[in-house]
Amino acid sequence: MKSRPSVPMLTFIGGAGTVTGSKTLLDTSSGRVLIDCGLFQGHKKLRLQNWADFPVPPESIDAVVLTHAHVDHCGYLPRLAKLGFRGPVYCTDGTRQLVEIVLPDSGHLHEEEAAYANRKGYSKHDPALPLYTEQDATACLDQLETVAFERPFEVLPGVEATWRRAGHILGAASIDLHLTSHDKHVVFSGDLGRSTHPLLLPPDPVGGADVLITESTYGDRIHDDADPAEVMAATVNEAARRGGTVVVPAFAVDRTEIVLWHLDRLVDAGTVPDLPVFVDSPMACRALDVYRAEARRGSPEIRPEFHGAELFASLKLQETHNVEESKELNERLGPMIIISASGMATGGRILHHLAHRISDDRNAVMLVGFQAPGTRGDALRHGARQLKFLGHYQPVRARVVSVEMSAHADQRELVDWAKTASPKPDIVYVNHGEPDSSAALADSLHEQADLHAVCPAPGERVRLDV
Ligand SMILES: [Zn+2]
Repeated sequence: MKSRPSVPMLTFIGGAGTVTGSKTLLDTSSGRVLIDCGLFQGHKKLRLQNWADFPVPPESIDAVVLTHAHVDHCGYLPRLAKLGFRGPVYCTDGTRQLVEIVLPDSGHLHEEEAAYANRKGYSKHDPALPLYTEQDATACLDQLETVAFERPFEVLPGVEATWRRAGHILGAASIDLHLTSHDKHVVFSGDLGRSTHPLLLPPDPVGGADVLITESTYGDRIHDDADPAEVMAATVNEAARRGGTVVVPAFAVDRTEIVLWHLDRLVDAGTVPDLPVFVDSPMACRALDVYRAEARRGSPEIRPEFHGAELFASLKLQETHNVEESKELNERLGPMIIISASGMATGGRILHHLAHRISDDRNAVMLVGFQAPGTRGDALRHGARQLKFLGHYQPVRARVVSVEMSAHADQRELVDWAKTASPKPDIVYVNHGEPDSSAALADSLHEQADLHAVCPAPGERVRLDV
């Protein structure tokens, strides 16, 4: 039985007290909406939460609204559908295109993990099962329904949703849920991007918000704003002089595009030589097609200077689509650049490139994203002298450099964004961050913007009439 509260309620299911698994439930007298449907990622205790019973019957949810296509915001959808959710999933067109790439890949990874656990015999379940399969993921894509930016859309009687640009990745949005019978605006930030994104327009202002729910991934941090181009140019030039290869572990969606944009600019200016650039990740290649098509058609999310343009046109770009082409790269001599996933070198084709190139001091490894503790990327960043790849330890002789390129707003940017809310929210719920980051952002929102900000506990349920 559905509980139908007379007062609208929010329940913080996931992304509370942690940076993944984003899921918040809105209950109103007319139904139930889930805002984001993310997968818990990271250490085992978190990942096990993906297997827990969902706190409400999935079939009782009327609709899901998605802020963007990152797995920690949409990766639980196939599981929710498998458990009985049959309603629509509303998202922007960019998000739909990327979700169609990301979710089947996620299903495939879950299947591979289960198969590996069975081979090694380390699963508690016998046999180990995937959380969902590629087929489950493909099946749930039928539930996606596209909405336009800036156009209020009724997701339930009495609940109108408006998606506004968040400038984080293509399609990413903040969502304003207008509870029409109470005339209250409840705004979810989603993941907020930065005004420095080279291809995407910056985040839109909050608009009116009575209640604001904001992410806090970098709530305790101020980004270093040094231009990454300088480090990139030095790394590429040095490797080119030595006849070496620059290996770039990069997140397949968005980060690959940012790296290519910088390289394109450097080649165009003659700052670095025009080396062959290989994008060796099927998911990255498909995402690349989406970004290129959106620029060509003049998407309102893309900066106007790229409308109608062919992105990365200065690069000798080569995309490898199958495993054979990927392995053939091992036979190639530098100088060249290989961009491959995963971004933290935890899996994927980047492993064989690193295994093959990391012990040669002519080569360089360029880290371009967040490296979670315990990953190979993190070990490299901290100067590991040897590292295990594909079952063997390899000495690290290649030069390792880190380039900062965050797709997330920092503390100052999150506070500035919250300040654009007009009228000022009665309360701000700070979630989607590690506890220290969330607490630091809540303090800053209070001190710098005079906002009442609190960090909800996992599972906490709050009324929306205060
Ligand atoms: Zn994100």
